[in-house]
Amino acid sequence: MSLNIPLLREICETAGAPGFEQRIREIVVREITPLADSVKTDNMGNVTAYKKGKGNKKVMIAAHMDEIGFMVTHIDENGFIRFHTLGGFDPKTLTAQRVIVHGRKDLIGVMGSKPIHVMTAEERTKPAHITDFFIDMGMSKKEVEKFIRVGDPITRERKLIEMGNCVNCKSIDNRVSVFILIETFRKLKAVPYDVFGVFTVQEEVGIRGAHVAAHHIEPDFGIGLDTTIAYDVPGAQAHERVTALGGGAAIKIMDSSTICDVRMVEFMKKTADKHKIKWQPEILQAGGTDTAGIQRMGKTGSIAGAISIPTRHLHQVIEMADKSDISSCIDLLTICLKEIDKHSWTF
Ligand SMILES: [Zn+2]
Repeated sequence: MSLNIPLLREICETAGAPGFEQRIREIVVREITPLADSVKTDNMGNVTAYKKGKGNKKVMIAAHMDEIGFMVTHIDENGFIRFHTLGGFDPKTLTAQRVIVHGRKDLIGVMGSKPIHVMTAEERTKPAHITDFFIDMGMSKKEVEKFIRVGDPITRERKLIEMGNCVNCKSIDNRVSVFILIETFRKLKAVPYDVFGVFTVQEEVGIRGAHVAAHHIEPDFGIGLDTTIAYDVPGAQAHERVTALGGGAAIKIMDSSTICDVRMVEFMKKTADKHKIKWQPEILQAGGTDTAGIQRMGKTGSIAGAISIPTRHLHQVIEMADKSDISSCIDLLTICLKEIDKHSWTF
């Protein structure tokens, strides 16, 4: 299956820091509306696309729309910006990056820090800290303040490129899942149970949107869609890889916030095998996803699991996924939604 790369590009390149998902939400609503029976945006900003089924059960799928970003906290007397992080950053990955400050208009800034030439011998051996960095706008305080205020969001600046069989961009986490959920709706015809495809907000700061959505929908079944670590690179030992690029859709067994329901894991594995969809198991010892919210926030909980997209260089500006894995994830999600009523869900 060939992927709609122009759509994936638009989805990945669009800004959407946690709590500031307006632009990506507009694109999601535009794309999903013709594919769903109804589309609603809740008070928090989650977008839920509904597809009516024949049965009396509900399936919720969650793909978070937000991306890790920053917020302006201070503009100093020389026009340099200090910031707070929205989501988990590895400080060393900020060095020499361009960012976009979303003020009255979008302005490019650069992440500045102390040049190695003026570091003491001791400083050179120390790891970078978030507080070492500032954003250089190349403008005076007066100029900066014409456009930027404390509280404005900041996102990473990087275009999508294709490399080999991969796509590389900022925000593959989690726009690749936003894309997968849209493309799954495009492929879905009749479904046995009601499907609620939720494009959630504020996942990167603690699964906040998914909590509200799951509380409202009270699903019987839940499937999280998010990226996971592919540490299949030089220096990694076999037991540290988590997943590998090109190894297929990752079926989550557990992460630090969810032990996936054994029934859902079995269902996904069997369904993938039956339809010859390439898959690999995923156990992520650190890091959680919306799956935790879907599993626990309805009054009776849900039978929850997750499909993860193997991603190299996660939470950097050069996140990378394999197109064949993306296709496998679309295929697996589609077929799981079609055959969910065929499985025995007793313990
Ligand atoms: Zn994510």
